[in-house]
Amino acid sequence: MSKYWSPSIQSLVPYTPGEQPQVEGLIKLNTNENPYPPAPGVARALRDFETDRLRLYPDPESAQLKQALARNTGLECDQIFVGNGSDEVLALTFMALLRQDKPLLLPETTYSFYNVYIDLYGIQARHVPLTDDFRIDLSQYRQPNGGIIFANPNAPTGISVPLDDIRSLLESTPDSVVVVDEAYVDFGAESATALVNEYPNLLVTQTFSKSRSLAGLRIGCAFGHKDLIEALERVKNSFNSYPLDMLAEAAAIASLEDEAYFNDCIERVIATRQWTTEALNRLGFEVLPSHTNFVFAAHANLTGAELMAYLRENKILVRHFTKPGIENHLRISIGTDAEMRALIDCLKQHPQMAD
Ligand SMILES: *Cc1c(COP(=O)(O)O)cnc(C)c1O
Repeated sequence: MSKYWSPSIQSLVPYTPGEQPQVEGLIKLNTNENPYPPAPGVARALRDFETDRLRLYPDPESAQLKQALARNTGLECDQIFVGNGSDEVLALTFMALLRQDKPLLLPETTYSFYNVYIDLYGIQARHVPLTDDFRIDLSQYRQPNGGIIFANPNAPTGISVPLDDIRSLLESTPDSVVVVDEAYVDFGAESATALVNEYPNLLVTQTFSKSRSLAGLRIGCAFGHKDLIEALERVKNSFNSYPLDMLAEAAAIASLEDEAYFNDCIERVIATRQWTTEALNRLGFEVLPSHTNFVFAAHANLTGAELMAYLRENKILVRHFTKPGIENHLRISIGTDAEMRALIDCLKQHPQMAD
């Protein structure tokens, strides 16, 4: 802290991302990165990129990427926003759409970055508890609000809500914006992008970080009515005209062009998730039904902190949250089959583990 800081920064509590330790031989299952490389076309696009072009600024509109996303979603370019990772898209969304007089509604347990934006912008918020089985019950969001945001599938639970429930919610709250964060939607949930043409109050955010294996390039996007997108563009152009660099745009387009590779990676992650869930169940874990590339699991006899420490000693990194109510769960990213076998084998070695 320093006397030179802006006053509001003194009390700011930033988001803590999962660790990125540089440890040889570590099995990293803590930040939901994809275990498979990006589509082969991404490597080609980066290799063939003419570095001389880097003298110039990138296209501030990222028009080519928006066109590729338009082809992919069936939406128009003016219904699409792109940014430097979906965290940035969300940061701009909170500023552009969710700073209202009435409270923002969001789940009590969800992506913890939302609370950072809420504090940063001084937004009034009301947190709605999950059900006893860790689900988001959208019928509880039918109360006066200045906007609603939730992740679908939710993080860190991995559980998704059906599209019909989102449709009912949109109809019950026509005067406020509903933001659905679909960071994990490709791993088996239904996307609300199908509703964008019907509901002018719906904004859907997605990312290339998880299902498209491009976390390192920072590419996120949002889909919604053109008036919502215009608000995002205004705020974006008040911070940074060029959030997407040329390499990121070229890689994102190449990724979208290879649907077969994309589907293949998704299928592999889902198959690994399936057998990993069954193996964890046999070891005495309760595993929530996941539509993501991670599982959220708690053991009957061991605390989350004990398990996390045990795995870390064995060079396996998973994510543990100390938040009351989920403090005994571990969030375990789905890695390759070999990585998940190593996880299961390591857990079996634990003296208190049933098998
Ligand atoms: C990973 C994640 C994001 C952020 O993704 P980036 O595009 O890498 O910034 C946003 N929301 C949720 C729920 C996530 O898990």
